[in-house]
Amino acid sequence: MSTHLYEVLERLVAFDTVSIHSDVPAMEYLAGEFDGAGFETALHHFNISGQPQANLVAWAGPPRPDGLIISGHLDTVPVEGQPGWDRDPFRVEITGDRVFGRGTSDMKGFLAQCAEAARTIDLDRLTRPLVFVFTADEEVGMRGAASVAPALQNLLGDVPRPNLAWIGEPTSLSIFHAHKCVTAFEVKVSGRGGHSGNPELGVNAIAVMGKAIETIGGLQAERRNTRNQQFAAIFPDAPYDVMNFGTITGGVASNIIAEQCAMRMTYRSLPDADPLELYREIERRLGALDMHDYGSPHHVATIELGKPTVAPPLLSPRDTALERALFAVTGETVARGAPFATDGAWFAREGIVTLICGPGEFEQAHQPNESISRGAFERGLATIVGVVERMCR
Ligand SMILES: [Zn+2]
Repeated sequence: MSTHLYEVLERLVAFDTVSIHSDVPAMEYLAGEFDGAGFETALHHFNISGQPQANLVAWAGPPRPDGLIISGHLDTVPVEGQPGWDRDPFRVEITGDRVFGRGTSDMKGFLAQCAEAARTIDLDRLTRPLVFVFTADEEVGMRGAASVAPALQNLLGDVPRPNLAWIGEPTSLSIFHAHKCVTAFEVKVSGRGGHSGNPELGVNAIAVMGKAIETIGGLQAERRNTRNQQFAAIFPDAPYDVMNFGTITGGVASNIIAEQCAMRMTYRSLPDADPLELYREIERRLGALDMHDYGSPHHVATIELGKPTVAPPLLSPRDTALERALFAVTGETVARGAPFATDGAWFAREGIVTLICGPGEFEQAHQPNESISRGAFERGLATIVGVVERMCR
């Protein structure tokens, strides 16, 4: 196996591209790899909270329609504060059959394979465009994909933008054609503080948040009991809208009536639903809530829903040329719904049919001591070359 493949992985892992940090130096390095392989490249710069970020588009092949996009994200989830690490997350280490380092599975491993494939493929024999798109910020807000997807045709110039995209997220080569949206927001309760010895004078925000959680939980249970037959095969584990209470903070001390309580939550609706339908239903039910606490009939709390952020859903049509190519190369025979959201939703909004399938190991994503087996890592390269041969030759 080429040592260059491992070299690129080492270089990519060594850049700290945790989403909140700038990925520009790493993207510039990656652009150099594709330049060197004979691709046209364009860095697509933008800012997130004042931090410079870049996406990379690299393309080759004749200016004809029906090409292929291969895509992945360069940012990673954080390592700081994550218990369980006993290795340097930014150094590739090979122990036995396993290659360790943050991003080896999710998904710098795939990006290294793309760079190696770019050198391996005979570009003169491409009969259709091959376009690589690498993004920033996938793990946080997907703002890389959201900004580059609508700009793609402009960046590609006279090369028609392909209408099929393959994202190599770590799925252990399972193929996903759908995922739910992710809607995230804050619920904030404001009460009235005071000495806990005199509860009649206040209203406890934590107590009222408890009622709000009970109300939202009731809605969660209702949705769980409304299994949608249309999605039973796509999401066999949860063919319904799911919810999660993520974080909660509130109160100052055990002898003070809690004045504030804030909770952050997400839900994931089935891909044919309006991503804000549940938000509006939660808002409606909380609006009907009795806002007294249990200690005082005199005062009421107020409740406020923060502005929601939405990662849109994905529901790609079946039996496309890309699906057939992925089936043929991986040996898989089914496509299903993923339990996570991807950049693909932003491609889909631009009319690009997207499938998710990658050699990284799903159970390794976001874990301490993240790794990939050498076999999976090296097989990924052949998978990319095989799909390109079927799609662009
Ligand atoms: Zn990922």
